[in-house]
Amino acid sequence: MLHDELEAHKVDALIVTHLPNVRYLCGFTGSAGVLLAAPRPVFFTDGRYAEQAAAQVEGVRVSIAKGGALAAAAAGCIKMHLRRVAIEADYLTVTQLTALRQALGKGVKLVPLSGIVEELRAIKDAEEIELIRNAVELSSRLFRPLLRTLRPGVAESDAAARLEFLARKAGAESMSFETIIASGIRSALPHGVASPALLPSEGFVVLDYGIVLGGYCSDMTRTVHLGSAPAKARDLYAAVLESQLAGISAVHPGGTTGEVDRAARQVLKRAKLDRFFTHSTGHGVGLEIHETPRLAAKNQAVLMPGMVVTIEPGAYLPGEYGVRIEDMLLVTETGYEVLTPVGKGLVELN
Ligand code: ZN
Ligand code: ZN
Repeated sequence: MLHDELEAHKVDALIVTHLPNVRYLCGFTGSAGVLLAAPRPVFFTDGRYAEQAAAQVEGVRVSIAKGGALAAAAAGCIKMHLRRVAIEADYLTVTQLTALRQALGKGVKLVPLSGIVEELRAIKDAEEIELIRNAVELSSRLFRPLLRTLRPGVAESDAAARLEFLARKAGAESMSFETIIASGIRSALPHGVASPALLPSEGFVVLDYGIVLGGYCSDMTRTVHLGSAPAKARDLYAAVLESQLAGISAVHPGGTTGEVDRAARQVLKRAKLDRFFTHSTGHGVGLEIHETPRLAAKNQAVLMPGMVVTIEPGAYLPGEYGVRIEDMLLVTETGYEVLTPVGKGLVELN
């Protein structure tokens, strides 16, 4: 609970300014508001959001601020005689910090903290898991229609536009990040967002996309091949798939994220491809596309039931092509459940 976290850090309250954290703690989905998470919590927003806040915010008093939500939160701290107040160090701007300091004066000590609410958000409850399942299910249904748009000569951005149109038609609130459709030589770019480049007659296409539904994100990657894949390309695909399966198998409650990363990396190392695997193995997903925990080499975060993470190794041969395969997984009491239902055998589009 947040209350225990605040006690552990010996602070009286946390001024929550990062909107996904605000949403998580009190339900508000608007784009302006500050939650003063104190013994008697108050959510401050402005007149534009009066109705929305009244409808959405639960378990927290709503206050409509005239001079800005942050200033009102500062006034709230003084009124409640709070002495030590935490701020979200990763999100408060210098301007906001200066204003807060001025408003609070010497009587209130500001304590910068990182990742407090994010740690809570890392473990999803049943309702959140259901929302994530829905998001994963919707985006997975778009995969076949997306494949049908992939033809030599079609612009990556046209294929992305079609995907995003279908996503909205199917009920998605938005894409969870800028759609990656990276074809041919561009597939060697780990973050090749869809460009005006035309799909080649032969070669890999990395498709990495996700949607937002009920506020929760999905994230998946498949790499398909236009035309028949030559032997070397097939080998690369097979190695990345084996790496991804090894990463998945390493997921279990009590294990560390570093172990999972090592398991995936080890396979590519055996294939002498590890130097082409230039990013981390995965990340948590929830209200935001990249959340705690991070699945990276030196990361010792412990996996716990209720965490939702991606496993997404890749190998990128500069100037040639690249492959990435990504699923979302739920960490369970006994191991894991792969949430993404889309097959992973090499698809060759002829
Ligand atoms: Zn992705
Ligand atoms: Zn991802």
